[in-house]
Amino acid sequence: VRYKEGQGWHNPTIEARAPIALDPAAAVLHYAQEIFEGMKAYRAADGGVVMFRPDANARRFRQSAERMAMAEVPEALFLDAVRELVRADRDWIPSGESASLYLRPFMIASEAFLGVKPSSEYLFIVIASPVGAYFSGGAVSVWVSEEYTRAAPGGTGAAKCGGNYAASLLAQREAKRQNCDQVLFLDAAEHRWIEEMGGMNVFFVMDDGTLVTPPLGGTILPGITRDTLLTLARDRGLTVREERYGIDQCYADAASGRLVEAFACGTAAVVTPIGRFRGHRGEIVIGAGNGADPVTGDLREALIGIQRGQRPDPHGWVQRID
Ligand code: PMP
Repeated sequence: VRYKEGQGWHNPTIEARAPIALDPAAAVLHYAQEIFEGMKAYRAADGGVVMFRPDANARRFRQSAERMAMAEVPEALFLDAVRELVRADRDWIPSGESASLYLRPFMIASEAFLGVKPSSEYLFIVIASPVGAYFSGGAVSVWVSEEYTRAAPGGTGAAKCGGNYAASLLAQREAKRQNCDQVLFLDAAEHRWIEEMGGMNVFFVMDDGTLVTPPLGGTILPGITRDTLLTLARDRGLTVREERYGIDQCYADAASGRLVEAFACGTAAVVTPIGRFRGHRGEIVIGAGNGADPVTGDLREALIGIQRGQRPDPHGWVQRID
């Protein structure tokens, strides 16, 4: 779908995937006016096609657009585009516990000019691809990045814009060099408070069963999986605290046995146990270190069960695509 000031959104089409033409002066290529979403369509247990909380992605996309001074994509337009593509691609939606059709809605500034100002023309596109599990199983290892931060107060951390990910690539590469699967970012001001991972939010489980996750302060992405798990945990009677958790406290709690589980969560990772944190202050192993963590496992099963239509959906999160 194309947008032009004065004309609004026009010309929606579904086409076979092919390169798109952009003027070399298109604003996105110079000033990174770009946002995206990540969501999945699943084959439910009964063979039908379902999506999980697509309205939450539509809302976050609208909020990201606002932060990046881009055209507003009405939530109904976003949802129609995604649903139409899922319908067109329904034969490509794999079945199986960890398989799905990954959808990538994105918007770029397409107006050609050189000068720092918001574009008056945009392209909103959705692409799709079948995917399997993001991690191959077991627990992941996490590198605590001390030299790079992902987002600063007042910046774009809460928006799902490409620039945030560009800024995180060097830290992610450092994590791989250190033999870790993922990077963990600390806050920009004090380099002390745990924020989130490269493409996931993070939770900690204490020995009294309490869950702790960093609060949304504008510097981390408001994950839809995070929000879902907060509700699922409360439904189970667990105490959940959205509060700042310092990396030094995390190391101390792991050493004393107070911190018993940690996990990463997101559309791609679903719920993935964290087995160890490594960084300049050394290495800590969490729980058994092998991912056999009961609270993490229970929340993962609960989430997947609802997504696949195998468990009741009291919050009305699952939407059928007919
Ligand atoms: N944080 C970051 C930086 C991410 O890229 C993602 C993935 N979108 C998440 C958290 C998790 O968000 P969600 O649960 O909505 O996928």
